[in-house]
Amino acid sequence: MLDYDNENIFSKILRGEIPCDKVYEDEKVLAFNDIAPQAPVHILVIPKGSYVSIDDFAVKANPQEQVAFFAAISKIVHDKGLTEKGFRCIANTGDHGGQEVPHFHMHILGGGPVGPMVLGQD
Ligand code: AMP
Repeated sequence: MLDYDNENIFSKILRGEIPCDKVYEDEKVLAFNDIAPQAPVHILVIPKGSYVSIDDFAVKANPQEQVAFFAAISKIVHDKGLTEKGFRCIANTGDHGGQEVPHFHMHILGGGPVGPMVLGQD
């Protein structure tokens, strides 16, 4: 696993060096609209702590951070009205997972059918 890079773009957003279109924030979690949405609703949820990936977060984050992260996802999907029709959460991880930004983030995609789970599948 890579070491955490303090210069990654989400770290800069957390430090306020780059703006974001904020959807939700609490002491441990920030969520904002993806800059290149792949669905009518496309939100990124990130922990405020410095974790490279979902695995890094699962191993190193304390229980309060982990509970806060999933509670934030729940609040967001309810607030955005996504629970009735459904939505998809994706955590791209590492090279094979196509992760571009090395700060753990969960994509929430919804607001319409989000297509096959993996590109190229029917
Ligand atoms: P991933 O491939 O899972 O690492 O996804 C990174 C996501 O971050 C992509 O969907 C990008 O569109 C999104 N992204 C990159 N820079 C920004 C930014 N400044 N604000 C919001 N979303 C961003």
